[in-house]
Amino acid sequence: MFNALMVDKDEDSGKTSAEVRQIGLDDLPGGEVTVAVEYSTVNYKDGLCIGPGGGLVRKYPHVPGIDFAGTVEASSDDRYSPGDKVVLTGWRVGEAHWGGYSQKANVRADWLVPLPEGLDTRQAMAVGTAGFTAMLAVMALEDHGLEPGHGPVLVTGAAGGVGSVATAILANLGHEVAGVTGRPETESYLKGLGATQIVPRDDINETTKRPLETESWAGCVDAVGGAMLARVLGQMKYGASVAAVGLAGGAGLPATVIPFLLRGVNLLGIDSVMQPYENRLRAWQRIAGDLPMDKLESMVQPATLHDLPQLGADILAGRIKGRVVVDVN
Ligand code: NDP
Repeated sequence: MFNALMVDKDEDSGKTSAEVRQIGLDDLPGGEVTVAVEYSTVNYKDGLCIGPGGGLVRKYPHVPGIDFAGTVEASSDDRYSPGDKVVLTGWRVGEAHWGGYSQKANVRADWLVPLPEGLDTRQAMAVGTAGFTAMLAVMALEDHGLEPGHGPVLVTGAAGGVGSVATAILANLGHEVAGVTGRPETESYLKGLGATQIVPRDDINETTKRPLETESWAGCVDAVGGAMLARVLGQMKYGASVAAVGLAGGAGLPATVIPFLLRGVNLLGIDSVMQPYENRLRAWQRIAGDLPMDKLESMVQPATLHDLPQLGADILAGRIKGRVVVDVN
């Protein structure tokens, strides 16, 4: 028997509740690879799945956790053998399939990535889906021509998970980084990660009637969406790109097409869930090389399975700073 965070739904009231329970291997859904999970983390989607679900969870009882890292215990697929260190993000694990808030998980071999050289399982979950996605966003900006020296790169939702990792990677690559935050108290934390400029959220959150403003940013990793993304589009330098990662500030986009037409601005969509395997490998290898591990450590808040109901509520309320690492054992 082993521990897992189970979320159940009361059919009469429709209310969900989450608690740590003992389950057995026979309770797990089928899969080619059994992983002894060591660490998981807390992403925005986890907040939804620990709570009422936000339409993501297919059936109850459910084990959330959209990512995990651990050691292969058994595998019917040739690509993995017992003892292999692996990481999993995406593929709707923790939403449509049982996820990483469990000491063991059964998953498809296709969903796993071997842990890259230079990262341990705890560091992999300090990165987690948020950090992996931040790396995908930086890679997309580079693929569209961003180079150090082009000017400041804006990171919105900077003190959150995606924002913290994006800030540290971009600064380490030699970019000037401007972090947008609604939490002024995180200034020294963000500067410690390498941000050279702090932009107060209120300065950039309001809609403006002007579709174009001063050309300020050579690139942007946007975790916020909504009115902030619309505003940022009009502040991009000629030909620059915005990697749209998240919707912490809203899913709407009250923008005009003027920045695309008059400044050749690019809006790049970033999806981490269905990324092809080769790009996953490339992103994890880049993370191992380009994210300074001391900076990563400064983002970490440790937690256990028992802390998850509170942490789920905290991330939905925008109260988490950096990255939570859940030691499931
Ligand atoms: P976090 O909650 O850790 O970070 C989000 C940050 O956004 C907050 O810390 C806060 O930063 C800022 N923020 C929160 N609410 C608002 C608001 N109303 N207006 C403006 N800013 C706000 O979440 P993650 O970093 O893990 O994820 C960020 C987003 O990216 C989420 O929407 C998530 O769903 C999405 N995501 C998308 C993925 C993909 O594949 N495309 C993968 C992973 C995440 P601060 O306090 O500094 O202002």
